[in-house]
Amino acid sequence: MATQVKNSSIKTVNPFNNEIVKEFEAMSEGQVAKIIDKADEAFKFWRNTSFEKRAEIIHKVASIMRNRKEELGKLATLEMGKLLTESIYEVELSADIFDYYADKASEFLADQPLDVKHGEAFLSYEPVGVILSVQPWNFPYYQITRSAAAHLMAGNTMVLKHASNVPQCAQIMEDIFKEAGLPDGVYTNLFVAGKDVESIVSNPKIAGVTLTGSKPAGASIAAAAGSQVKKSTLELGGSDPFIVLDDANIDEAVKVAVAGRMWNAGQVCVSPKRVIVPSSKYDEFLTKTKDAFAKLKLGNPLDKDTTVAPLSSEKAAQDVVAQVQKAAAQGAHVILGGKRVDRAGAFVEPTLITDITPKIDAYYEEIFGPVFMLYKYDNIDEAIEIANATEFGLGGTVFAKDTKKAVEVARKIDTGMVYINHVTGIAPELPFGGAKNSGYGREQSPAGIYEFVNAKLIRTTTSDKNY
Ligand code: NAP
Repeated sequence: MATQVKNSSIKTVNPFNNEIVKEFEAMSEGQVAKIIDKADEAFKFWRNTSFEKRAEIIHKVASIMRNRKEELGKLATLEMGKLLTESIYEVELSADIFDYYADKASEFLADQPLDVKHGEAFLSYEPVGVILSVQPWNFPYYQITRSAAAHLMAGNTMVLKHASNVPQCAQIMEDIFKEAGLPDGVYTNLFVAGKDVESIVSNPKIAGVTLTGSKPAGASIAAAAGSQVKKSTLELGGSDPFIVLDDANIDEAVKVAVAGRMWNAGQVCVSPKRVIVPSSKYDEFLTKTKDAFAKLKLGNPLDKDTTVAPLSSEKAAQDVVAQVQKAAAQGAHVILGGKRVDRAGAFVEPTLITDITPKIDAYYEEIFGPVFMLYKYDNIDEAIEIANATEFGLGGTVFAKDTKKAVEVARKIDTGMVYINHVTGIAPELPFGGAKNSGYGREQSPAGIYEFVNAKLIRTTTSDKNY
């Protein structure tokens, strides 16, 4: 589909210098309908393909990704700007997730016997059809993988609508599936704009939809799915709290929080966006955070010594600076950064903000960039109140020497995941997902594979039995 089309919204723009690299033509409604028809046809045989055969192909996908990790990594960095080391890590993580579901799907989806008074009963887990997967650009491979690995291994087929700024990552993944031997129609890209997704959800051959992205996009597709009585799962934004307890090792906490916040230039749904420290440790924490900021090196994401990458696009950079300026105008204190960097590309200075009160919008909002917000608390209830003050409920961290005490605090944080002494992390075997307006449903772990299967009850009994 790659063409030199002027004014397409689907294109690679290198955020390091804002140059347009490649444009893609959007698909017509007719082309989209044909792809969905083909995915529906493919479902008829893919659902009956054995776990062994599916696993062989999905393992091959993992192995191709590992063998081509440098090339794939460079492509992600070109399209959305993240550090090459982070891009390569993402490719490896994605390969691990493909392997995990290839190894485990048959076990997770084996018939589950039920304890009944007479006769037999069991759950038969069956795929449901074509899944529409809508994904964001911040982890161009991992985001595809989270949904594709589980749902393809379950026997569903998939059409993928990737973010408009990572079309080459989308294309290369489709090519890898093909190279691994995935039959035609089982997984196919849709090159369409976000605004056109809602109507695709209504196609009768789409059985379910999964979206990772912003709340407005999630609300739009969930409403479309709901109106058609189709299942949806949503992984939306987050504003993870990072609560430091008073016995914590401050050097370690600062190191982990700053590195976590600068990861992917702050464009991570589970980045520690709000760091909440005891008043008694506040000055020490602030000084050490400033020291850590002084060591950050902003620059070319392909260079090994760069620690802060450009943002994903010019608009993303403008939006982050506007949010910081608004916070400052409302009374927050911008201690470091807060401006664009005087060079080409979508760079924003690493930013440190304090004095964020409930009167300031940033107290409640997600800032998707390298903006470290520091709060203080006098007692733990106050820390928990700050942690739970946003509409989001994705991840969170408690940092402490006494891990038992940290777990008690973790139980009071209204999010889908809390990590002790670590920023919210990712592993194939651990569930990922949120509460509140961070969405619903889970990806990864055994839980991820049950989202789009029919847990069908099959009951054997005799007509004389009264239940
Ligand atoms: P976004 O605008 O919602 O885009 C995400 C995807 O949705 C893209 O493919 C986009 O397509 C599409 N889209 C946009 N508007 C749509 C609509 N009205 N209907 C259907 N699809 C639509 O998200 P973003 O702002 O680029 O991404 C960052 C957000 O994602 C942040 O809030 C972040 O926290 C969240 N996120 C969450 C997780 C998680 O696991 N919870 C992980 C990563 C990111 P186009 O590119 O064509 O607009």
